[in-house]
Amino acid sequence: MSRILIANRGEIAVRIIRACSHYGHTSVAVYADQDIEAMHTQLADEAYALAGTSAGDTYLNIEAIISAARVSEADAVHPGYGFLSENADFAAAVEDAGLIWIGPTADTITALGDKVTARQLAQKVGAPLAPGIDRPLNDASEVESFADEHGLPIIIKAAHGGGGRGMKIVYDLAEVSGAFESATREASEAFGRSECFVEKYLERPRHVEVQIVGDGHGRVVAVGDRDCSAQRRNQKLIEEAPAPGLETDQRERLHRSAEAICAEVDYRGAGTVEFLLAADGTMTFLEVNTRLQVEHPVTEAVSAVDLVAEQFRIAFGLGLSLTSTPEPVGHAFELRINAEDPGRGFLPTPGRIDTLQAPGGPGVRWDAGVRAGDTVQPAFDSLFAKLIVHGPDRSAAIARTVTAAKELVVEGPATVLPCSLDILADPAFTAEDLRIHTQWIESELLPRMDAQKRPALMAESDMARMTIEIDGKLTTLGLPSSLFARMGALGGAASTADGSGSTGSAETAGEESGSVTAPVPGSLVDYLVEDGAEVAAGDDVAVLSAMKMETRVQAPASGTLTQVAKVGDTVSVGDVVARVE
Ligand code: ADP
Repeated sequence: MSRILIANRGEIAVRIIRACSHYGHTSVAVYADQDIEAMHTQLADEAYALAGTSAGDTYLNIEAIISAARVSEADAVHPGYGFLSENADFAAAVEDAGLIWIGPTADTITALGDKVTARQLAQKVGAPLAPGIDRPLNDASEVESFADEHGLPIIIKAAHGGGGRGMKIVYDLAEVSGAFESATREASEAFGRSECFVEKYLERPRHVEVQIVGDGHGRVVAVGDRDCSAQRRNQKLIEEAPAPGLETDQRERLHRSAEAICAEVDYRGAGTVEFLLAADGTMTFLEVNTRLQVEHPVTEAVSAVDLVAEQFRIAFGLGLSLTSTPEPVGHAFELRINAEDPGRGFLPTPGRIDTLQAPGGPGVRWDAGVRAGDTVQPAFDSLFAKLIVHGPDRSAAIARTVTAAKELVVEGPATVLPCSLDILADPAFTAEDLRIHTQWIESELLPRMDAQKRPALMAESDMARMTIEIDGKLTTLGLPSSLFARMGALGGAASTADGSGSTGSAETAGEESGSVTAPVPGSLVDYLVEDGAEVAAGDDVAVLSAMKMETRVQAPASGTLTQVAKVGDTVSVGDVVARVE
């Protein structure tokens, strides 16, 4: 039995801690300052401080994590997803420290992390691949001749890009050289490497991916496929398994290609091979993610394979538990529960979770990194929980997912849940052949969606609600909050009302006309206009950064702008960052 250090936080750390407990391993958590009381810190057998509040100082700090592994006498490290999970230097540092790295070798991470070498591997094994130039480009003229030969649109991508960044789509030949210049410039700024390549751009494709596990000695088995086309900003929101509407030969081709690509590098551990599938049936290899995915539970639900246990088996030399692709049983969905407001363009809304009631019922799995009273931290990702629902077939699974989503109560931060419910009710999504694509949420769904009302608006803040029973029938009773406050002062049973009343939102503070206020908590990255400049109502005047995302703030009126904060300042929702007079 091992002592496994989990170099992560949130729901995935909790997921891995549970797996440690299931299989008799000791779990060792690490935590940033603000996570001292977090669920993963409390649930782990032991927890060690990383000392710091930013991701860079903590969960991305290789030295601090290796030192925590030494102090805790861990003998293995599980990286989860995100943070350092696809960092070859970290994988090497773990092994150099004499520890077991629960993941593929540093060489595999390097080879597959480079999109050009990954494309070359896909080419070599005959995986489906849109036309492209499989080496770094020298100049724009190469892109122009590629477009001449294969037609438009095309996409120029950073070889070392990630997170949906460093990509330029080109629809017009005249734009090629400008797009090439900006792609290489952005690539070197964002990833420190300027190499770019080009491939044909597939319009309105679905995102389909294959979960694989490999033993590190050339044996690779596809565990199943998933569809993750419901995305916003190229980031997944709803995933499902198996991918609906695939022809048998398409599925076969995807599975065998994924196995072949990974077998080529003697892949060790769990990984995901991503593809795009166009409406005309064209498929193309996209990339390999050399780690556990956020959406791994949908595959677990339909395959009955515990993917974290499989990672343990492989890392500890026990080999794979499966010899061939299991036939999927039923259908599963995952809703990512992110603290974001879809009514405001998926603006992150971190904050305290006042109420959290998880759903239940047949086939329902709740993977959360928080409990009621915890805070969704602005310094980290907005994903704080996942709802995974399994049913006997796709439509039954949709019905169960809708029921569970409606049962789920989150009060405090806004969540993506209203948008997810709209998606689950849309005929394009419920169609057996899934008629959505990766840009569908933004292009089709959002324009039709009403702006979501933010929870905890001031107008409701004078009212507290509680559920009571009258003559055997449940009903909701609304009372002035002040009444509960007075009852609390009398020392009565007022605690039952705690949390059930909406609290005043700081959002409206500082919203007097002329004030430019922060719509998200975060840090002020930059002013876009000089102090004292003339601005028009609606102009972008400042950039805030919260939860790895940049948000622009607009002038509420026309006039002269006065800056009232400093670049780098930390701001809360409603804080005034500028005035327009
Ligand atoms: P990243 O590593 O940044 O996530 P990917 O190569 O996985 O980059 O691409 C991210 C997204 O960009 C895809 O999910 C897809 O929506 C879009 N995309 C990438 N390549 C193509 C292509 N050739 N045709 C159409 N869309 C593409």
